[in-house]
Amino acid sequence: MISDQEDIKVQSVSPLYETAPLGGPKQGPFLNACALLETALLPEELLEKMQEIENALGRVREERWGPRLIDLDILTYEGSLINTPTLELPHPRLAERDFVLIPLFDIAPELFISGINKTVHTILLNRDPSPDVKLYMPSGWHEQS
Ligand code: AMP
Repeated sequence: MISDQEDIKVQSVSPLYETAPLGGPKQGPFLNACALLETALLPEELLEKMQEIENALGRVREERWGPRLIDLDILTYEGSLINTPTLELPHPRLAERDFVLIPLFDIAPELFISGINKTVHTILLNRDPSPDVKLYMPSGWHEQS
């Protein structure tokens, strides 16, 4: 659905990972991936598009941290530092989550994260390897056969 948007070009997509839920109620595993997008949309406009897609897929906002059908987050937008009630960039919990860092490393290892002032590679090197992020499908999983 993201690649169907005329003002967004999907440059690359990471493998898909199965990850253990972090906190929240008792719930099953999540599937996580990262994509690199090229777009002329401004950050707020991109967020709106992502929310339209979440809504089209039938996401209903229920319990925070709880099970959800889909969750599209913007991790970074070039070097932008944004802190408004609706949008924080880089995503504030990016550097604490292996389920984000591992797929992000796959597509953009040397991406510099403003604010944290480190590359994805360096952030990951300073963390213990996570047993909770398991390869579920290799890259190409999103392409229709
Ligand atoms: P969630 O329920 O995790 O999808 O959180 C959604 C809310 O987080 C939305 O209402 C957004 O306005 C807000 N938000 C703040 N920063 C971001 C971001 N970088 N990416 C996506 N949503 C964000």
